[in-house]
Amino acid sequence: MRYFPLFLDLDNRKVVIVGGGEEALRKVRLLLKTKARINVVAPALHEELAAYRNDGRIVWLAKSFAAPLLDDAALVYSADDDLHHDVAVAAGDRGIPVNAVDDAALSTFITPSIVDRDPVVVAIGTEGTSPVLGMGLRSRIEALLPQALGSLAEAASHLRQSVAERVPQGNRRRSFWQRYFFGSIRDSFLAGDARSYTRELEAALIDVTSPSVGRVSLVGAGPGDPELLTLKAQRKLQEADVIVHDRLIGPGILELARRDAIRIPVGKTPFAASPKQSEINAILIREAKAGRHVVRLKGGDPYVFGRGGEEQAALADQGIPVDVVPGITAALGCAASVGLPLTQRGQNRSITLLTGASEDGLAQHDWAALAKPGQAFAIYMGVNAAGDISAELLDAGIDHRTPVTVVENGTLANERVMMCSIGSLWETLALNGVEGPAIIYVGLKPATTSADILTFPAREATGHQVLRAAS
Ligand code: SAH
Repeated sequence: MRYFPLFLDLDNRKVVIVGGGEEALRKVRLLLKTKARINVVAPALHEELAAYRNDGRIVWLAKSFAAPLLDDAALVYSADDDLHHDVAVAAGDRGIPVNAVDDAALSTFITPSIVDRDPVVVAIGTEGTSPVLGMGLRSRIEALLPQALGSLAEAASHLRQSVAERVPQGNRRRSFWQRYFFGSIRDSFLAGDARSYTRELEAALIDVTSPSVGRVSLVGAGPGDPELLTLKAQRKLQEADVIVHDRLIGPGILELARRDAIRIPVGKTPFAASPKQSEINAILIREAKAGRHVVRLKGGDPYVFGRGGEEQAALADQGIPVDVVPGITAALGCAASVGLPLTQRGQNRSITLLTGASEDGLAQHDWAALAKPGQAFAIYMGVNAAGDISAELLDAGIDHRTPVTVVENGTLANERVMMCSIGSLWETLALNGVEGPAIIYVGLKPATTSADILTFPAREATGHQVLRAAS
């Protein structure tokens, strides 16, 4: 960032605009939103500027530019091409920020595009790189912000004192303002419904001051790509006081969480002891009992190999309210990412999600049933046990040519896809050094029929191909 954004107090400060034409007029119109003392230095004035001058809204110094005219100014605009240089030098000598219209080299500040809902103001800048992008963003933000937003902020500032007297600082006060600006109180205000506004305001004040236990939201974060979060998950992350998250949750997702939420990483670490489930439950209970809104953020979906049920039961035992926000589970997210339909006519009528690992090693399944033709399944946590799994399936009579797709770090930038047959699964994983979280699909074929993808090695226990390497 080369240009540092800030909001400058121009109340009763002098601002000089050199030039009296169209460009000067544009700057004057902007500055008239403030209470600056606007001095226009120019031998002649545009008629709209003359009107402002007649109304006493600007001061016209009908002379040629001279450096001392800038003395004591807070800001200077040069809106006369011929004078840019002289004005920039004079402003520089006096340490006054200067903007020479359309001349970045001579300017020390730039004026952002703004969306004005005074006192709420959004400033947008692209450091001159992409004006069209800037304009597009501006019109989107314009459309997003209700016209009466500024009045809402005004109204809030009048309430601030009485809210501070009634609601203790911290979570409760913040939760009140969140309800004020983003809930039904705001809706009533913007709809001009004074009676509902007053009623909801009072109800919210009573609500946030009554003693409360916190609550826990079990939130699915999806397989990794932040864009695969649900809107609800995103809102919960914005509202959380505390986020208890799996270590595997990537920075891209945590980035979307409220800045001052406390983050507690739990779960698997490669080289250290991982907290036990009972310890995680204890953290959730402790934080909720302190009156906080806890988000328990889990990879994929909380109810799919995520122990969501156990956490929910432990919290319910303590009378703590819990809600669950589903996420895109790895089997779904990774399949979409690599183009692998989970059901296809003529191929499979069902798909089983199963885990390869259990607390005491290889998870037991009905291998004979899974080995039958036409079966399809997605194996979670199966990398370490892959050799045993394929041995069980081969013993149970599965066709060794049954297609297998392995997706490692699915939906993330370092995603890898490997295709092989069940007979060559273990070898494929070993040769490719699969280490990230990976899901193994058995019995599915890719949607596209390119020869490239469909040539599965048919030999028993040999051969593999890497279709897409990590980028
Ligand atoms: N609740 C999660 C699963 C947790 S178990 C869900 O619904 O997805 C952890 C296993 O999920 C990993 O061992 C792996 O098999 C799978 N997994 C999670 N994220 C993955 C990803 N981005 N790519 C591939 N597999 C993933």
